[in-house]
Amino acid sequence: MSEGLAVELSALIDDPKRVLTAPAVVERLSKDFYWYSPVLKRQLQDKHGDVVVQPVSVDEVLAVARYARARDVPVTVRGAGTGNYGQCIPLKGGIVLDLQLMDKLEEITADGVAVCQPGLRLGALETDARKQGWELRMYPSTLAKASVGGFLCGGSGGIGSISHGGLRDFDTVRAFEVVTMEEEPRVVLHEGAAIHEILHCWGTNGILTRIWFALTPAVEWVQCTVAFDTFEEGALFAKSFAEDEAFRKRLVAVFEWPIPSFFSPVKQVVKADSTLLMLMVEGGQLEALREAAVAAGGEVTFSGPYTGPRSQPLLSDYTWNHTTLWAMKADPAWTYIQAGFSASTCMEQFALLREKFGKEILFHLEFIKNGKGEIFPAAIPLVYFTTEERLNELIAYCREIGVGVANPHVNYLEDGGRFRTDNIQLEAKRKYDPRGLLNPGKMMSFKPEAQAK
Ligand SMILES: Cc1cc2nc3c(=O)[nH]c(=O)nc-3n(C[C@H](O)[C@H](O)[C@H](O)COP(=O)(O)OP(=O)(O)OC[C@H]3O[C@@H](n4cnc5c(N)ncnc54)[C@H](O)[C@@H]3O)c2cc1C
Repeated sequence: MSEGLAVELSALIDDPKRVLTAPAVVERLSKDFYWYSPVLKRQLQDKHGDVVVQPVSVDEVLAVARYARARDVPVTVRGAGTGNYGQCIPLKGGIVLDLQLMDKLEEITADGVAVCQPGLRLGALETDARKQGWELRMYPSTLAKASVGGFLCGGSGGIGSISHGGLRDFDTVRAFEVVTMEEEPRVVLHEGAAIHEILHCWGTNGILTRIWFALTPAVEWVQCTVAFDTFEEGALFAKSFAEDEAFRKRLVAVFEWPIPSFFSPVKQVVKADSTLLMLMVEGGQLEALREAAVAAGGEVTFSGPYTGPRSQPLLSDYTWNHTTLWAMKADPAWTYIQAGFSASTCMEQFALLREKFGKEILFHLEFIKNGKGEIFPAAIPLVYFTTEERLNELIAYCREIGVGVANPHVNYLEDGGRFRTDNIQLEAKRKYDPRGLLNPGKMMSFKPEAQAK
């Protein structure tokens, strides 16, 4: 299939060198960080596309969409391939549409909105924005590699979410242009509430080709680590710091022992047998933070400026889902879940989980703000994997005690935590991709046109 496909696709693209067929390259560009999950690793390791196309313009994306629609060929969009649910792994072969060459920052408007192509790397945007007095409102810990389009379609939030919420909140995603997979593919502008039809849909109902992404005025941040003797002390201090509106902050992460022992490149900031907090606070507030931390029994083990993505050490490299990566380096049996604890009863929820699962679960918290402005401990706890049944038992128990779980061990949107109950994403899929050619198999509630009849 791939040779005939490649020949025909080459005729649609200005430079045929941007149609890739070498098996090792196609395999690499078909994969993401799915192996984070021992369950997905088994399910997805033999899946890949047939051919990779690297468009450089919307016209080329449209040409590929027209071709794929006319011949019923699946199309799976790829940003930088840092997703960890196997989001961009084609389940049914076909075309991998790799957007890494569409990486232009067109402008940052006077009111701080970045207008860009989807393949622009978030790290490049953060660097350019800070030169112009702006910065990202939030970014995943994969800042250096991840693309803006991939973040919008596969991510949810990250460093900065403590002040600005997630991608769904506070009009951060202003608008985007989407290429459809209709009988005659076209470019459609989605703005305001209409972005929610496509946001975080894993490229199943449209291809983002141009994005308006709101920034925030740049801040002189300081990075800081604080050690506490116990997890309870550390978690309670982090909670009060996260909730204290007097502090301007970008990161409030908590790692119970032995998680900090996995952070080998920054062992100088780690205190043995202690819970570690990683924080980012406005430079002028470091002393106030230090005083509050010491008063709560903490010890500041490091502080230093954040000067952009190249800061050394860059504490965010150890936070969010990078924590799991460091744990897996120490022992590949560690995996994770993505959870939301209750702001008011989280300490009881932690205790219940510890009682039932002991150190099979290790607490890693990331405090965030939700769309209503409430602060709560989101969490990416580490889970020591033994069997799929045991993992599902832990997830079920979390839900039973009121801990929300976005299950990262499934490869479809509906259980992945960001699927909307108002069905607007499914409606957009029916409208824009009635044949089900965009990333097939990832939106389970959708039935393609031919089968629906
Ligand atoms: C170590 C590690 C840490 C992480 N930390 C975080 C974190 O802090 N926060 C977070 O939210 N996520 C996190 N993630 C997940 C992931 O890195 C982010 O979601 C990232 O933003 C994805 O960007 P990407 O360019 O790699 O997207 P990809 O993995 O290439 O794509 C993600 C999904 O979006 C689709 N897609 C990509 N581009 C487009 C487009 N233009 N149009 C339509 N669909 C498109 C793909 O088909 C795929 O389904 C982490 C992952 C890892 C491995």
